[in-house]
Amino acid sequence: MTLAPRKLFVTTALPYANGAFHIGHIMEYIQADVWVRFQRMRGHTVHFVCADDAHGAPIMIAADKVGKTPQEFVAGIAAGRRTYLDGFAIAFDHWHSTDSPENVELSQSIYRALRAEGLIDVREIEQFYDPVKGMFLPDRYIKGECPVCAAKDQYGDSCESCGAVYSATELRNPFSALSGAAPELRRSEHYFFRLSDPRCVAFLQDWTRQSDRRGEARLQPEVLAKAQEWLGGPEGGKLADWDISRDAPYFGIEIPDAPGKYFYVWLDAPVGYLASLKAYCNKSGLDFEALVADPEVEQFHFIGKDIIYFHVLFWPAMLHFAGRKTPERVNVHGFINVSGEKMSKSRGTGISPLRYLELGLDPDWLRYYLAAKLNSKVEDVDFNPDDFIARINSDLVGKLVNIASRCSNFLTRRFDGKLGATDTAALATFAGSWSGPDALAELYERRDSGKVVREVMQYADAVNQYVDARKPWEIAKDPAREGELQMVCSTAMTAFRDLVLLLSPIIPGLTERALAQFGAAERGWAAIGSPLPPGHQVAPYQHLTTRVEAKSIDALFDMPASAKAAPGTAPKAAATTPAPRPTVSIDDFAALDLRVALVSAAEAVAESRKLIRLTLDVGALGTRTVFSGIRSAYEPEQLVGRHVILVANLAPRKMKFGVSEGMVLSAGSDDPAQGNGIYLLEPGAGAKPGMKVS
Ligand SMILES: [Zn+2]
Repeated sequence: MTLAPRKLFVTTALPYANGAFHIGHIMEYIQADVWVRFQRMRGHTVHFVCADDAHGAPIMIAADKVGKTPQEFVAGIAAGRRTYLDGFAIAFDHWHSTDSPENVELSQSIYRALRAEGLIDVREIEQFYDPVKGMFLPDRYIKGECPVCAAKDQYGDSCESCGAVYSATELRNPFSALSGAAPELRRSEHYFFRLSDPRCVAFLQDWTRQSDRRGEARLQPEVLAKAQEWLGGPEGGKLADWDISRDAPYFGIEIPDAPGKYFYVWLDAPVGYLASLKAYCNKSGLDFEALVADPEVEQFHFIGKDIIYFHVLFWPAMLHFAGRKTPERVNVHGFINVSGEKMSKSRGTGISPLRYLELGLDPDWLRYYLAAKLNSKVEDVDFNPDDFIARINSDLVGKLVNIASRCSNFLTRRFDGKLGATDTAALATFAGSWSGPDALAELYERRDSGKVVREVMQYADAVNQYVDARKPWEIAKDPAREGELQMVCSTAMTAFRDLVLLLSPIIPGLTERALAQFGAAERGWAAIGSPLPPGHQVAPYQHLTTRVEAKSIDALFDMPASAKAAPGTAPKAAATTPAPRPTVSIDDFAALDLRVALVSAAEAVAESRKLIRLTLDVGALGTRTVFSGIRSAYEPEQLVGRHVILVANLAPRKMKFGVSEGMVLSAGSDDPAQGNGIYLLEPGAGAKPGMKVS
């Protein structure tokens, strides 16, 4: 089947440039990268770009705190991106920044076009002002209760609980997150995008319900339902105008003809998709305006469920009324949880992607695991450590790599690496075990990577059953059965090549290593199912991937050395000569709830070399379980009956073995001259469980 070549423009959501990537970013990049690699394998042209979302008050305030300009601050964040992207083999063509000349020009030109359409209003509004800090408060610095669902502690622009978008003045019981003061309302002139204009409403009613050119709904059903709710159903009328301006001081793009006014960061952030594409076009000699105006070009955004509003209402309306093409699809995914626990924006999860790379864990493992969990729905994904280990070891190692490791060396040792004839009956059996390349391509197209993995593993099972039944290691003992040995191994290796090709968008590293063994074999989708000719040369088997060891996953859940403490123990000094810490107030110290605790039980954690599970009697506070990284210094039985000092109000920490409900204090040093012992702190005689330490 020949395919009409497609031209695709693909983005992931722009990460806010105030911190390193977390596992949620990496999941989205992997999902998009799998899709992009699949499209490229099909022979389609893909431009895959992203950028740092650099503007806005939070970055201005964060930069100020560390004595940097916002530009310096953002450059520091951007400098760290490459390690992650290369590390997880994310094949972006270009990484840009919204704080760029391309974005200034595009944002201002889109704004001018909207103004010419009569869709910009200027109105005086009342806005929250922090009387202590002497500034208008950015939405993110006003907190209060969501006006829609009443969730507490929500920001002034949108609710993390129900997804509603509102203006800060609608929050109930607002307070300034900068000073804690109750904000005052003051008047200021603001610029609005008139989304309530009947033209906008009619356009969005239509656009959100359209199908893409492949005949699929443009939005997933859950996303369309949300959009309809926000639009106010078929009658409409619920969409409010969107406040797109902020007053100086603000780190952002100036609004043309409006001194002292800047675009709200959410206006220029999605324009950053175009800015990044434009910078990429300039770099590679493509005509940007021709590309984005080309009706053949399909624009795809991969985003998380928390930013649906901006992408299915504001963004298409901005583009459409500025005379530009709108996205083909917006692909929304859920969040990633770790062992069932929700990721928190402030606390992150137990998994650091950088830690994963630093430990030398195979990036294909995480790619494979997440691909196996992801589908086309807006569902949360759970990272479960035991499930991760089981799946990699059973699928990638036990099923996929197992085929090559059992068969390929017979070919190189006995037949000069040459493939012989294949067993056509066996190949037909394999073909019957899965639904075939066209059906699988459709699953990739719809981002149903979980089903892709299931199908490919059914195929791998069939191949392994064949190898198990024919036993090449037995055949090899009989010199009269040389031809049969070559055929069985050639058949298995031909199927192995297919399996690797089918998974290659998901596991690019393993694919490279495996296909290297097949010489310059064809790597496109069309090669799947086409047998390699007899005489084709196979190179000696080489390492493809290893089993996941439980201890390396334990290490993933430990804190990195750079972040000091092992879980459950007090932080040790990071340097050999520990620098004195900055002064803290008595209030800071008093925030810690330190208690005397009695160790009532202690046991080593079987899968960990470091951890001991302590059961602590904390008097009136009851019983606590704490995992403490003191195994190198203490035997569990030495600890029972001892008194220790517990940080009782430390946020519980989900670990692979359970939840650690606090931390036990110990002393230690990183100075080799002092040894690297761990010394538990103990209260003097007479202290009783539950007593406060102050
Ligand atoms: Zn809410």
